[in-house]
Amino acid sequence: MAGKRELKESAGVTTPIAPSPLGVNVFTAPGKPMFGERPKPFGEALGFDPITSTLIFGEYDAVLVDAMTTVAEAEALADWVALHNRNLETIYITHAHFDHFYGLSILLDRFPSARAIATPKTLKAMEMSFTAPVERLARRLFPGQLATKFVAPQPYEHETFTLEGQELRIIEQGHTDSADTTSLYVPSIGLVVAGDVVYNQCRMFVGDTTPESRKHWIAALDRLAALNPTMVVAGHKKPGAPDSPSAIQETKRYLQDFDRVKKAATSDQDLFDQMTELYPHWVANQSWLMFGFPQ
Ligand SMILES: [Zn+2]
Repeated sequence: MAGKRELKESAGVTTPIAPSPLGVNVFTAPGKPMFGERPKPFGEALGFDPITSTLIFGEYDAVLVDAMTTVAEAEALADWVALHNRNLETIYITHAHFDHFYGLSILLDRFPSARAIATPKTLKAMEMSFTAPVERLARRLFPGQLATKFVAPQPYEHETFTLEGQELRIIEQGHTDSADTTSLYVPSIGLVVAGDVVYNQCRMFVGDTTPESRKHWIAALDRLAALNPTMVVAGHKKPGAPDSPSAIQETKRYLQDFDRVKKAATSDQDLFDQMTELYPHWVANQSWLMFGFPQ
């Protein structure tokens, strides 16, 4: 696999060889229906927002961030990863929500030499997704669409790992759209793979937030903005939307608008309608994202 480097070394090159810049490619699975009734009688039919996985790759090796939800998504993702013709070393899971890792067993079957990792805090928060009630709920919402077995990533205790010698830095973000989330930062290429800290033209899961946690979420966004990234991949985005750093400020604005409108709204429907009006072009206009996951 290291043929090119060996050639240069055997030719007696003594100066260090600058690493090639890493590449990035983003896979977006479209939104999909969920089986069941909407928790509120307004908004689009029950469904799940479009979701992303990100491949970061060097000359030979690659790292995948997040592993999708359904078998169909994970298989399509695995095929797409294979097209890059790199050795998949690591699958990094950003946070504990099952939409980002129920597909992991499919990926590991296809790439058995890859290691799947997440922070110990994320793993702790993930335990809930392996309990019988949550598994039952997920299988009811996505009947016949989920893997027969779910696997957890391994705990990864360090703040950084590498891809072909270049650093990938884990940023602990605490509670954003769920507990103990993270983002991944690749300084050499100015890339932030934000996980669900950033949403891109896609309605955000604010159904599990409080005024306090929204402040915390905004602080997490400010942390990402301070890195001055050139590319930001959101955990959920409108298919085709550019992975622009402006998504950080747009996510922040949505949270601030939600906070303000929620205080003055006369009813849940009023809140929902006002947010719909403020963000007419954002996808996934489902009331559960605002009022809580369907039970
Ligand atoms: Zn998510």
